[in-house]
Order: sequence, then structure tokens, then C-alpha cells
Amino acid sequence: MSYVITSACVGCLDAACVEVCPVDCIAGPVSLEEVVAAPRAERGVRWPGVQLFIDPDACIDCGACAPACPAGAIFGEDDLPLGAEDLGRARAFHAAR
Ligand code: SF4
Ligand code: SF4
Repeated sequence: MSYVITSACVGCLDAACVEVCPVDCIAGPVSLEEVVAAPRAERGVRWPGVQLFIDPDACIDCGACAPACPAGAIFGEDDLPLGAEDLGRARAFHAAR
């Protein structure tokens, strides 16, 4: 099983999830170095429509990221509000990297 980031992440890019992940399996279309260097309050405006994705094949299901997310955007695979839709987007993103 994997944890999954839903579209509630869009506009946040807080990256608190990235900081707590023990296996560094969270990434997005924008370089994380660039995101972390930008002031937190500006990230959602600077990269509109952008969200991060967990690599479902690398996630070890530790659950550390979900409580760290200020947007409540992260769920266990079996508890996703929109079913497998967000998991499919995460798989597609990481497969294309
Ligand atoms: S998953 Fe949560 S903590 Fe991580 S970038 Fe998205 S909204 Fe922010
Ligand atoms: S559940 Fe654990 S391993 Fe998976 S993305 Fe979250 S922090 Fe990383």
C-alpha cells in the first residue's frame, strides 16, 4: 500500500511532507530545491496548479507525511476520497520521470 497526495495539495507546496519522508519518495514537476528556496507564503502563487506526488512504488507506508500536511491532502491508498483517481495520477507522474 502507498500513501497518496490528492489535488488538495495544489496551491500549497508547503513541502512539510518532503521534510518528514524517510525515503525521499515525494517529488513534483518543479524542482524541490527551487520550491524550498522560495518563501512558503509565495509558493502557491508562484507555481499555480502544481502539486507534489508520492512515488507509490517507493513509499514504505510509514504514514509520517499525512499528519505533517497542513492542507490535509494526504491519504492512505484505501481511504482516498476520490477512489483511485489520485493514485493513477501519481503513478503516471513518476512513470514519466
Ligand atoms: S502534500 Fe501537503 S505538505 Fe506536501 S506539498 Fe502538498 S499540501 Fe503541502
Ligand atoms: S507514507 Fe512515509 S514513505 Fe510514504 S510518502 Fe509518506 S512519509 Fe514517505
